[in-house]
Amino acid sequence: MAGTTSRRVEDLTPGAALKCRAMVAACQLEGIDLLVYCTYRDADAQDALYAQGRTAPGPVVTWARGGESDHQSRTAFDCVPLVGGKAVWNDPALWARVGQIGESVGLSWAGRWPGAKREMPHFADKG
Ligand SMILES: [Zn+2]
Repeated sequence: MAGTTSRRVEDLTPGAALKCRAMVAACQLEGIDLLVYCTYRDADAQDALYAQGRTAPGPVVTWARGGESDHQSRTAFDCVPLVGGKAVWNDPALWARVGQIGESVGLSWAGRWPGAKREMPHFADKG
């Protein structure tokens, strides 16, 4: 993929990093192992991701073009719960709990976005 992506929590703004760590810790307390797999993403990488499912193969995974996503402003991250070391993408009850935990530490959860724009893994610090 073109551009630069990071999964380092340190690449978020200090405020977003704080909430991200708080969410991971809160999940751990409930026995949920959370993998943060994307934090900062530059505009080129965002454009490449936007192309996926449109002009490039694969499923649509984003509705934001380069510069439009909170990943470029370092205030958003994507995460997925792990069960037995494996990412679990399709467990609605587990996502609902992960989303609630994220919201409980002050994050905005894209799992609440309407219809097809919903993004379960995406959490943002809206201040
Ligand atoms: Zn995201």
